[in-house]
Parts: sequence; C-alpha cells; structure tokens
Amino acid sequence: MRPFEYVRADDATAAVARVSADPQAEYLAGGTTELDLVLKDGVVEPGRLVDVTRLPLRGITLAEDTLRVGALVTMEELAADATMSERVPFVREALLAGASPQLRNMATIGGNLLQRTRCRYFRDSTVMACNKRAPGSGCAAVRGPARMHAILGASEHCIALHASDLCVPLIALDTVVDIQGVDGSRSVPLTQFYVLPGERPDIENVLQHGELITQIRIPLPPGGTRSGYLKLRDRASYEFALTSAAAALLIEDGTIVRARLALGGVGTMPWRALEAEEILHGASATGLTFRAAAQAALDDPFTVAGTAFKVELAKRTIIRILHTVSGVRP
Ligand code: SF4
Repeated sequence: MRPFEYVRADDATAAVARVSADPQAEYLAGGTTELDLVLKDGVVEPGRLVDVTRLPLRGITLAEDTLRVGALVTMEELAADATMSERVPFVREALLAGASPQLRNMATIGGNLLQRTRCRYFRDSTVMACNKRAPGSGCAAVRGPARMHAILGASEHCIALHASDLCVPLIALDTVVDIQGVDGSRSVPLTQFYVLPGERPDIENVLQHGELITQIRIPLPPGGTRSGYLKLRDRASYEFALTSAAAALLIEDGTIVRARLALGGVGTMPWRALEAEEILHGASATGLTFRAAAQAALDDPFTVAGTAFKVELAKRTIIRILHTVSGVRP
C-alpha cells in the first residue's frame, strides 16, 4: 500500500477546491468501497483522501412530491424513512437486500452511486489485463471464468457489473443527481449519469475530477402506483445479485397506464429497461404482456460462457416481479 495523506473537510467548497486541484486526491465518505480498494486490494492508490463525512450533506426532506436525500445519508437512514417506505417501498426493499445492517449504517447514498465493480480481476492487482485499471491492457474476464458480470452494455473491452441494488429502483424513478464543482453546481438525471464502458471502461460516469455529489432528488410516482424489487442470488444474504428487477406500475381497469422497469445484476450500469416500458405502457396487465416486455429488455445481450445463463434468468426475474407488483396471477 502506498502511503497517503488523510484530510478532514469542514466546508464543501473548500473540499471541492482541494480535490479538484490535486489529481491524486479522492473523497472519502462511508469508506465501505474506497477503503477496500485502497487498504485491502491495493488497486487504487490515492495520494490524499479528503474525508467529507462532516459536511452538512445529510437529511431527507419532502417537497412537492420530490424526496431530497443528502449524499451523506446512510443506507440505513434512507431505509427507515417513512415517506419512502409508503410511496416507493421498492427503494426500501432494495436497500435492505443490498447490504448487511453493519454496512448499511456506514455506507452513504452518494457512495452507493459511485461504488466500484466487484469484478475479481479488477480487484486483483496481480492480474495485468484489466482495461478498467489499465486502459489498453485487455480484459481478463472476457476469456477467463466469469459469472458475476454484465450482459447488457458489455463488450469485449469490459463486462464489469455495476452491483448496486439501490440504484436499480432509483434509476426507474428518474432520480436526479445534484453535483458541486469548482465552477458551480449542476444536476444530471441518473439515466445520464453513468457511461457505457466502450473502449474506455476506466471512465464510469460523467463526474469531472473533484466534483462532489451533494444530494439526490427522487420524484415520487403518482398515488396508486405499486412497486416491488426482486433480487435473485446464490445465497439469501451477503451476496450480490445474479439478476434483479425493480418495477413500478400504475394499473387502471386492467390497463397499465404507467410503467417503470429497471434491472440489476446484468448491466455495466444500473439498467433502465426502456424498450420493455414501451411495451407495458397502455397494454393489458397480462402474462403475455409481461413476457413480451421481458423479451424486449433482453433483446441484445453480450454474453460469455459464464454469463449466458443470465439472459433467461433475467427474463424470468422481470416476469415474476411484474406478476407480483400487478397482482396478476401467473
Ligand atoms: Fe477489468 Fe472490466 Fe475486464 Fe473486469 S470486466 S477485468 S473490470 S476490463
């Protein structure tokens, strides 16, 4: 491990200025990903860690049907919020499925958005071929054993999975990310926050170096919307998703008048299933509709030998959550 300087920030503007001015500096919040990568795996070597946990970026407030969540709110605090549990219960379901209570008490919402991939090759510094760590070096996962990897948004350059559970319902809800930089603040929809790996898997999102997530805004769906999150995994706890799906449906007289669907465990980013939503909108809530939506969502996967099983599993995950949320029997 390379030595690094630890700095505690008391002011957001000063913290942003400090990290922006130093290419070797990174933010430290809950530390549940960052400290793993720095202290245990040794695959990230910042020269300076700027601790932002004392910044005033906490609190959950409701205004005009939008839930504002500070970037330093913990997963456990968000899971305990009454408005969220009542209006968008699938966010709470994803939070509880996403980590142990110990981790939920440390991990922040901003950090969850920025969590790094669990790709075992990325986290093993003895593996040389990793385009995400060393652009142009190749991808060990494409030719080696792969299972916890992506099939949507993936390519021969990188099949690393974005493993967040929380981000799956958040992207279904059109959540917006508020960001502070040296030149001011800006907002980016979560649907546009992540970047497909393409030929540069090391670039994962639209953040410029030094920009700080200050809060997220979650638009609440219309009353009567029902939602659910389904996560399939190799064991019931302490495990990442093989596939997952978050669905929010508003159904009137048997017709789906509003549908939001997103997938986890399959994408290089939290995956909004827009093609499936198009099929669901205005259609009758039936098993046939749900199967057509699942087919559309998995229309163009990129698989390797170890991940091919996810195509069918993801379809079944979608069909099952749509039955569950709609109340339509299989
Ligand atoms: Fe690296 Fe991505 Fe390949 Fe994993 S899948 S080895 S992160 S390039």
